[in-house]
Order: sequence, then structure tokens, then C-alpha cells
Amino acid sequence: MPEGLALPRFDMAGETVTPLDLKPLLVGSGVRYPAAVYEAAAGRARLEPPDNPYAANCFLLPGEVAVHLAPNDRSPFSLEAGGDGSIALCCVGSRVTEVSFPAPSDYGAQRTSSGTPFGGIAVLEGRGILAFFYLWGCQFVRTREVCAFCHQAQAEAAGLPFPSPTGDEVAEVIRWSLDHAGIREVQMTGGTLSAPSEECARYARLLRTIDQRVGLDAIPGEVCCYMSAPKDPAATDPVFEAGADRIVHDLQTWDAGLRARFSPGHSRVVDRPTQLRALEHIAARHGPNRACSTFVVGLEPLDSLLEGAAYLAERGIVPSYSILMPPAGLASQLHPNDLAYHRRATAEYARLYKTCDLTPPGLAGGAHVCMCHDIYRFMDDVLESASC
Ligand code: SF4
Repeated sequence: MPEGLALPRFDMAGETVTPLDLKPLLVGSGVRYPAAVYEAAAGRARLEPPDNPYAANCFLLPGEVAVHLAPNDRSPFSLEAGGDGSIALCCVGSRVTEVSFPAPSDYGAQRTSSGTPFGGIAVLEGRGILAFFYLWGCQFVRTREVCAFCHQAQAEAAGLPFPSPTGDEVAEVIRWSLDHAGIREVQMTGGTLSAPSEECARYARLLRTIDQRVGLDAIPGEVCCYMSAPKDPAATDPVFEAGADRIVHDLQTWDAGLRARFSPGHSRVVDRPTQLRALEHIAARHGPNRACSTFVVGLEPLDSLLEGAAYLAERGIVPSYSILMPPAGLASQLHPNDLAYHRRATAEYARLYKTCDLTPPGLAGGAHVCMCHDIYRFMDDVLESASC
């Protein structure tokens, strides 16, 4: 457990802020990312140009807090290149702090032996995560019931092609990324299938293929599988037997009415009792910290979010903090840019991780949108600041 790591602090318009304050604001509002920044960092950073719609860019705040770089020309935040080659984060034109980037990589130029670009299958996140973001399509694209916050399913519904890679292709991407990009953790996500228990069978087969082709032992950190909760909770046991370190069943919101509104298909097919039964089965059968559940933080009132996070944490299930990155049309109704909301949520997550002895997935300088591991690393400082 990390002890006593101190959060860096910066001045932003007269207010003292930390990287944990900034990350939700930056993910929620996006950042102005001029071509001059791309040019200034060329050859020194893993960055795609601002006009690449498939880019999964990030920058790192001091303290190794990775932040997804979603270009938005109307954001109050901007990246600006200095004459000495440094890149600064600014708010309404005033410098907040210098930022850094992951090392440059040829990942974006790679293709599998079947010709699929690596970037169409998985992305590098921060300094060490390889995330397969949509291994197979979601049934709710067909029924027009996709989740309001799901960028992948919405892109598929809009006609963007998403390749469904074979197990061999997944193994190829992992092998290359271990050898050339220094990844330490693998996260895998697929859409919801019409029989959610089939997701368990697919993950078990995929893990066996990865083990045969690459060796799961070659992955220094964790392998996390995001999947829909099956009706029979024991259906996830073979996924652990095949080598998963954690399984994530996303609750998305604790408030059932809001879940029905934002996730019409998923809430209809995978009901809340099924989700909780599956999560509690994992905690009982495989131990604490093996089951996780993501809340999309910013979708619901704070009290309801924190009630759900506490329910899980007290049962050895890790509540995960995925910052809402609002698609167009959703932004103004929600809480993505409310600093007080995120400060209270961050403090309560830190308290739950500490008191319930939970270790969230991720690593330093890792996930672009999730903040659970960032909170975990700085939890002592967060708790001390919250008690002042
Ligand atoms: S069920 Fe999962 S994959 Fe399907 S739309 Fe919702 S979040 Fe996206």
C-alpha cells in the first residue's frame, strides 16, 4: 500500500488545485490542442496529430497522473508550446503547470499479420497499459439501445467499422507491445452479447490463446476482463481459471432510474440483482479485489454514487472511478466539470480504499479516463487534505 505520497499542487486562477482536481475537469471539458504543440513535441512524445479522429492521446500531469487528451477548441484548458520545447497546461491562457508525455512509439504504424491496424483493436494508455477497447460488437447497436456515454458503440452505430480481432491477433498485439512499448497491464473490453454468459466463454478461450502464444506470465502486471454479469455467477469461474486477474462488471450508476435512462439496453437485459450476485460471487469465491465495478462518475448525484461505492467496497469489490467524458448533447445536464463534486467523490473513494483494504486496477501514469489508481496512490494526502 503506498504510504505518504504527496500530491503536487498548482495555482489555477487563485485556487490551489492538485492533479486529482484537474483530471476530471480536463477529461470532462477536453483541451485545446493546437498543431503547434504536436509539432513542438514531435519525436519526443507519443502523440497523434490533433486532426486524427482515432487518436488515443494523453499527457501526464506532475505526479504521473495520465489524462486523456480529447481535443476541444472551446475548452478553457489548452496545451501551449514554450520556446524551450516545454509544453504547458493553461487555463484561460494562464499557465497552470508543465506536462509530459509517454515516450514515442511505432505502435500506430503496426498491423497484425492479417493486415488490421493495431490501433483499430487496442490502444496504449499512459506509460504501461494496453487496452482492447471493443473486442466484439454490442448487441444494443442493432436495437438502438446503446449507453449514452459509450463512445465505441455510438461510433459503431454511426457506421464506423470496428474490426473484431481473432485471438491470434490479440496475442500478436500483446507480444509486440510487451517487446516494444513496455506495457505492464492488459485490459480487455467487448460489447454485450445477446447471451452474456457467452462473453465468459469467449474470454476464457482468448486467455488460453494468449497464454499459448505469449504466455500470461510474460505480462508483468494484471489482466482485467470487462464483461456483462452472467445470470449464473459461476460462469465467471472459468475466466479466472484461464488466467484473468480481475473481472469487471460495470454498474455504471447506482441510481436504477438513471441507469435505465442512460443504459436502456444493458439495464433491461442485465438487471441489478444479477450484477450484484455476480460481483459478490467473485468476492466470496476468489477473494477481495478480484471483482471490480465501474461507476461513470458525473452521471448521478453524489449521494447515490457514494452509496453504491460503499456497498461494493464493504464487500471486497473495488468501485472504479471512470470520469464521464460526455458525448455531444449530454454535457450540460450532468456533473463532469463540478470541482466540489469530484473532490468529495475522490475523498470518499480514498477513504473506502484505505478502510476496506482495496487495491484498484491500474498503475502510475496509466489509465487515461479512470482515476481509481491515481486516488489510491495519493490516498493518504487526499484523506489528510479532506480532514483539514
Ligand atoms: S453495453 Fe457496453 S458496449 Fe454496449 S453500449 Fe453499453 S457500455 Fe457500450
